[in-house]
Amino acid sequence: MVQSLLENSGYSIKRPKVAISACLLGEEVRYDGDHKKNEFLVQHLEPHVDWVPICPEVEMGMGIPREPIEIRQKDDGVRLVGRNSEKDWSATSLEKSEELCNLLKKERISGAIFKSKSPSCGLKQVPRFGEDGVELSSGAGLFSQYFRNTFPYLPIIQEDEVEADDLRQHWLMRVFAVHRLRLLLASPWTLEDFKAFHQREAFLLLAHNRHAAAHLEEIFVKIPATKRPEFAGTYVLGFLKIISKPPARRRIAEALRRLSACLSMTAEDELSDLELSISRFQRREIPISRPLQLISDIADKGRIESILSQSFLNPFPKDLLKTSNSPL
Ligand code: SF4
Repeated sequence: MVQSLLENSGYSIKRPKVAISACLLGEEVRYDGDHKKNEFLVQHLEPHVDWVPICPEVEMGMGIPREPIEIRQKDDGVRLVGRNSEKDWSATSLEKSEELCNLLKKERISGAIFKSKSPSCGLKQVPRFGEDGVELSSGAGLFSQYFRNTFPYLPIIQEDEVEADDLRQHWLMRVFAVHRLRLLLASPWTLEDFKAFHQREAFLLLAHNRHAAAHLEEIFVKIPATKRPEFAGTYVLGFLKIISKPPARRRIAEALRRLSACLSMTAEDELSDLELSISRFQRREIPISRPLQLISDIADKGRIESILSQSFLNPFPKDLLKTSNSPL
């Protein structure tokens, strides 16, 4: 996956590309000829991303409408079979999954949203049945499993997780971070460009994992930037690993306090308002947007560019933060 991220020549799009199960956009591609349009996605996310709709089962040539399929757990692994006909679609699914993932590599997607519960697209808790129709276990759908193995560090979410603020915001943060990485890698970058990028991402990384962020910085002295693929590959992998896990609230609060410490010229009453806001965020009383807005306002007044340029303040378009109902 890192290799596919490094190949970005000509990538200059303004919005990240996101792979999505086509039925979620309202395409009538489900086994019963219906769709599962997700209004939340269409209303809130569509203005900020370019969709790359896919339907693995249509790609498999199953037609619309079609016999429903399910995952069977057998001694030799899992199989994808027609619920009544018992027709085995496993080999076709594997072949088409590979083709679709190759297409998505070329599309240079920055993330994915898949339909839950589908034996092809579901990310988790898709039932796996025994011969007698009894549910034996559960796991990922066959296509999404292939996708995850192909793009291990790409942000991926199920449609039923999107309305949970914390899951959606972490996913969005990662999608836009991958997009920024792609833009950097598409440029004729120099070591200085990477350092400037790292500077702008400093507090975002700090909020996730302070020690790993410091370790990542070491590559600027350990690997000569003349070894371009090695340098870029190591940085990108390290960066994506750091942001792959949602940060703990106390770590975010710590990063906010470090940011506020950079506002040394600020009046004392503003700083105490900010500290109060950070503490309330830490106690889950207010969303992160409040302390972030205070920091932005103070930095804006003083034109403190080193703070205003931090991706931590604007990890994704502000509109998307407003869709939040609860603290981060
Ligand atoms: S295979 Fe995926 S995209 Fe196609 S209908 Fe099923 S859930 Fe939707």
